[in-house]
Amino acid sequence: MKPFTTDATRWDAVKTRAATADNHFWYSVQTTGVYCRPSCAARRPLRENVAFYDTRDAARKAGFRPCKRCRPDDEHADARHRKLVEAACRKIGSACQTPKLEDLAREAGLSPQYFHRVFKRIVGVTPHQYAVAKRTERFAAEIRTSERVTDAIYNAGFGANSRFYETAGSRIGMTASALKRGGHDTHIRFEIADSWLGAVLIAATEHGVCAILFGDTEDHLLDDLQTRFPNATFEASEQGSDFARWVRAALAHIEAPAGFSDLPLDVGGTAFQERVWQALRAIPAGTTSSYKDIAERIGQPKATRAVAQACAANPAAIVIPCHRVVRADGGLSGYRWGEARKRKLLAREAAI
Ligand SMILES: [Zn+2]
Repeated sequence: MKPFTTDATRWDAVKTRAATADNHFWYSVQTTGVYCRPSCAARRPLRENVAFYDTRDAARKAGFRPCKRCRPDDEHADARHRKLVEAACRKIGSACQTPKLEDLAREAGLSPQYFHRVFKRIVGVTPHQYAVAKRTERFAAEIRTSERVTDAIYNAGFGANSRFYETAGSRIGMTASALKRGGHDTHIRFEIADSWLGAVLIAATEHGVCAILFGDTEDHLLDDLQTRFPNATFEASEQGSDFARWVRAALAHIEAPAGFSDLPLDVGGTAFQERVWQALRAIPAGTTSSYKDIAERIGQPKATRAVAQACAANPAAIVIPCHRVVRADGGLSGYRWGEARKRKLLAREAAI
């Protein structure tokens, strides 16, 4: 059940410099004689010059030397960096104002650029994204105890209202007015790809990803897409477009669902559904919540049933992790894309 075990997923990780793939495998470059971590910032090699290894030892035995940029041989650096990054996370988590990158880096004794890379590799997001996520968490906790939304915004350390809506909006892409009408006047691009959970359809409007669906056949997937957006027009995907990048990012996230996803989403739900989906995104990978937990988290403790329905209506599998909701007694409960997929997903996330 481990991620990044096939050459295809490994090569995708190297192409996108996926920090989430670090320590899962290493790769060598024939032409330069070095081996690297998947996230290495060095120039991307040609596929034909690349080989993959399960361990750094295997890369060394094959005759490659460690890259000077990503230092794949420095095992102790990992432990050292982890401590520095944990300290930085604590500082970000307790500060009202987000600390400056330069200050965090100085305290860690690293250059800002290097600190930024190390932080992203270990946490999976940049220091800035981490700070935004922390503030959003604090906001969600505040809003249950505050009378007024504006109080909660200030108490969570967001400063000005507009900035909260900017950052919160970009986290789930609430640009969904067109989709609420079944996709009227909306152009949707889509692609069907293979994944470790079977065929997956990824669709997007110009604003962001509007659907990630699993199915057993292409026909099922296309039917599902058309049922969801009966009034949309559909277009083939284009090479090199935003859409192509989003598809790659979505596939990388499906491969390593425990990582952070900053894919822009354009998901048209009711206000209630969007609050549920937002709450789902706050469930950390490797853990689960019950429908009741989610109902309480959005401040409507009696709406357990409506929460279950909103989970079932989730249009973006995995990126909105409705698979992390289980019955209060720990039973799997249902999953829009089949219990077998849900079980595999939870097992993969628990293993990381
Ligand atoms: Zn390297």
